[in-house]
Amino acid sequence: MTGRKRRRAPPAEPDYVPGTLLNWNDSRHWDYTGPQPCRYCTVPTQLRDSHGSHAHKVCAEQALAEQVADAAAAYHQNGQTT
Ligand SMILES: [Zn+2]
Repeated sequence: MTGRKRRRAPPAEPDYVPGTLLNWNDSRHWDYTGPQPCRYCTVPTQLRDSHGSHAHKVCAEQALAEQVADAAAAYHQNGQTT
């Protein structure tokens, strides 16, 4: 490895469409004991995220989209300037 190879820029991120990221059809994403506050917006919900925490699907997807955007921004900061 010479470390001098030119790296191609990653492909542009497609625009995120809310509601299309996660599939929460599985019953483990539903709390049958009743609604609890969403971990993101605190509005009660019976939905649970993949960690078992109460969260609206759209809130979880928004959080994931922001994480991806942050990671992409950090990558572009540390990568080549264009
Ligand atoms: Zn929420």
